[in-house]
Amino acid sequence: MNLTNTITALQALLGERLATAKAVRDHHSRDTGWHAAAMPDAVAFPRTVEEVQEIVRLCVENDVPMVPYGAGSSMEGHTIPARGGITIDTREMNHILEIRPQDGLAVVQSGVTRKQLNTELRATGLMFSVDPGADASLGGMASTRGSGTMAYRYGTMRDNVLALKVVTPDGKLVKTGSRARKSSTGYDLTHLFVGAEGTLGVITELTVRLHPIPEAISSAVCAFPDAASAVETVIEAVQYGVPMARVEFLDAVAVAGVNAYSKTTMKVAPTLMFEFHGTDAWVAEQAQIVAGIAADHGAEDFVWTADAEERAKLWQARHDLYWATKAIRPGSELYTGDICVPISELAGQIEAARADIEDSFLLGQIIGHVGDGNYHAAYIIQPDDPRELAEAERLAERLVERALTVGGTASGEHGIGTGKLKYLRAEHGDAAVDLMKTLKSAIDPKGLMNPGKLGQGG
Ligand SMILES: Cc1cc2nc3c(=O)[nH]c(=O)nc-3n(C[C@H](O)[C@H](O)[C@H](O)COP(=O)(O)OP(=O)(O)OC[C@H]3O[C@@H](n4cnc5c(N)ncnc54)[C@H](O)[C@@H]3O)c2cc1C
Repeated sequence: MNLTNTITALQALLGERLATAKAVRDHHSRDTGWHAAAMPDAVAFPRTVEEVQEIVRLCVENDVPMVPYGAGSSMEGHTIPARGGITIDTREMNHILEIRPQDGLAVVQSGVTRKQLNTELRATGLMFSVDPGADASLGGMASTRGSGTMAYRYGTMRDNVLALKVVTPDGKLVKTGSRARKSSTGYDLTHLFVGAEGTLGVITELTVRLHPIPEAISSAVCAFPDAASAVETVIEAVQYGVPMARVEFLDAVAVAGVNAYSKTTMKVAPTLMFEFHGTDAWVAEQAQIVAGIAADHGAEDFVWTADAEERAKLWQARHDLYWATKAIRPGSELYTGDICVPISELAGQIEAARADIEDSFLLGQIIGHVGDGNYHAAYIIQPDDPRELAEAERLAERLVERALTVGGTASGEHGIGTGKLKYLRAEHGDAAVDLMKTLKSAIDPKGLMNPGKLGQGG
């Protein structure tokens, strides 16, 4: 590796947009999760595709590892530069290039964030629906195949990315997909890069789907006597076909955390938060159907509102849940499980996960985008305490084992980074993981693009 040459050449290319200051490298040495940090040697802030191509060419020529970086909000060690090298931070690639309301799509540079795009869309009556709690970049969201609270109704990044431009490790700019809503031409390269976690190239541009902002929106909150009743309500509502825009589960620990952090006054009990989209009449009808199902499962109340301010407060509180949970134990990190199972299995899985927490000395909570069968168990740990870390690992492993026995997955939306890499073979089998490695080495023969992760480890 010839790092000095690379840094000198990158300084000539980018000037001040090549940072070697410790504070900047330190910021890029970790993600939002608990994983041990590792420093990059420098951080590049390109603005154009041509700059990204030149950075990649220089790194490959000099055998220097690279890590693509969006907002750094991932949780499984995705952006930690295990072998040092250059982190390619896309925050300055933040231009919205085109909005085509008539086709329901937008073309953006990869550093554009979801909130930025939605602010820009306000006047159009359209929205970009994928909403992880963090204000993530669209390049990072595509790379983790992320989702959020609205995936049950509007899909994940898998469903909302139509086309990409990607700089591959040979320095070429590859265009994938088209503006058409469907296509049956060739290998589906768009979806090879969606979820590749920055191991196959740097996404520089995305064409994404937009959805009409519904005429009427209402939200509801509903407390249950126990977690199973809440989850059974969701399963029945899903099986009934109610097109809930959002349906979120919070256990009592999570509700108490949210109340304390966001000054909400929800009853401290297993709770469902809903949102319904449609016309006034359709929204009222959906709420009525779900309220009926909830009552059959012992729900004590079903408080619903169409007030925009109350709704915004409620969902902001939900999006701040991660920080609310960390605040329960100052200085802690969250070791998160991100399980997704067929919906019919959800109640049993959540009950078993809750029982594990009760039997453990760790404090933990369970929340979930339950319409998709996706739930998170978060164990609140001091990451430098080996006993706590080992216990969180043990609990998280039990979650994954249980999910895999019913045809589920080790990660519904966060991705695998380094944290979940060890589960790949159990989930996909040797032949599939070996094929992933073959693809990785064909596209990145020197193994320099986000090394030690997907396509190499596992
Ligand atoms: C409070 C909180 C709540 C969250 N809630 C959710 C949730 O509900 N759903 C969910 O899915 N996630 C959630 N997350 C996790 C996180 O927000 C997502 O994983 C998000 O998609 C990461 O985007 P990012 O821009 O931060 O990417 P980063 O963390 O910067 O990068 C993530 C991965 O993508 C790669 N990458 C980044 N940009 C590019 C690019 N341009 N080209 C190629 N590869 C790239 C990186 O190398 C890395 O492997 C949450 C995180 C937090 C902190």
